[in-house]
Amino acid sequence: MPAGLLRPALLAAARSPRLERGVTRMRATRALVDRFVAGSAEPQAITAASALRDSGRFVTIDYLGEDTTDPAQARNTVAHYRELLAALGELPAAVEPGTVRPLEVSLKLSALGQSLPHDGHLIALDHAREICAAAAAAGVAVTVDAEDHTTTDSTLSIVRELRADFPGTGTVMQAYLRRTEADCREFAGPGSRIRLCKGAYREPESVAYQQAAEVDAAYLRCLRILMDGAGYPMVATHDPAMIEAAQRYADEAGRKADEFEFQMLYGIRDVEQRRLAADRRQIRVYVPYGDQWYGYFMRRLAERPANLAFFLRALAPANRR
Ligand SMILES: Cc1cc2nc3c(=O)[nH]c(=O)nc-3n(C[C@H](O)[C@H](O)[C@H](O)COP(=O)(O)OP(=O)(O)OC[C@H]3O[C@@H](n4cnc5c(N)ncnc54)[C@H](O)[C@@H]3O)c2cc1C
Repeated sequence: MPAGLLRPALLAAARSPRLERGVTRMRATRALVDRFVAGSAEPQAITAASALRDSGRFVTIDYLGEDTTDPAQARNTVAHYRELLAALGELPAAVEPGTVRPLEVSLKLSALGQSLPHDGHLIALDHAREICAAAAAAGVAVTVDAEDHTTTDSTLSIVRELRADFPGTGTVMQAYLRRTEADCREFAGPGSRIRLCKGAYREPESVAYQQAAEVDAAYLRCLRILMDGAGYPMVATHDPAMIEAAQRYADEAGRKADEFEFQMLYGIRDVEQRRLAADRRQIRVYVPYGDQWYGYFMRRLAERPANLAFFLRALAPANRR
């Protein structure tokens, strides 16, 4: 299949419960999943976070799950975050002088009930508030992830509300959305923490740029707005061109190394992560854990055909045991 069709096909598969059942049952999947996911429970996430801290990297931890349609499951997600935050609060790195918190959790509002019928928006807000309060007590920062474009208005409105009580709550901007430059201008005020990523979902042309070159150009425009703004930019990308531009824009805006950070995903470009840390640049690693890894895993395959080829080879009959 041509590469241009592969990404949308994999992103469509990421939303298929039938494929999810099939792929998660395959034993061959596990080795590749382990490359991107830190384990199934809190102790493994804490072990991975501690090792990253020991190597000079910051972390943000995500309890995997999304598109929850069951209120009990949304409550269960809150319980996992509370357990995680209690353990993170015990780590020596939880609170350090200065405004940048080495430890952070990332939340997906759709895992907290945002898509439940009727009161989903309010349920997700209440759950996120409970997690923000537990995080504040533990000295841990919170960033609210961005999901597909149908959730953007609800997510940004929840972030506005959370910021009233927890001003350091971070949010994510997806450069591929046509609206994002305007959102960056609104959210880049003093004290804000904005993670800029390219965007990982399958989106229609009416709302999102489709060509990689258009997305890269939009990323650079948003990056410039954030670097020139009054907030704290979090540059989430593995792309060498974007990393180089971020450093250049930061220098041009007179930002010091502790006035912005780079971010990458667990298991991706580890050597580059270590290089940045050794170079005294702030680098944070997004560490997902939990059993509901299917959607996250499929988005990683969609980003990189080489990972898909590796996965397909592992599934080949000769490799099955
Ligand atoms: C910390 C962090 C948080 C994120 N949070 C969100 C979010 O909340 N919402 C959202 O929609 N998206 C999120 N994303 C995902 C993001 O939107 C992109 O889908 C993803 O980062 C790939 O884009 P890229 O900028 O790395 O560039 P790309 O153009 O995809 O890749 C550039 C280069 O990076 C390397 N690379 C990229 N992906 C991989 C991979 N999977 N395996 C190995 N090498 C790879 C390759 O060398 C590639 O050529 C997040 C990403 C990061 C790093």
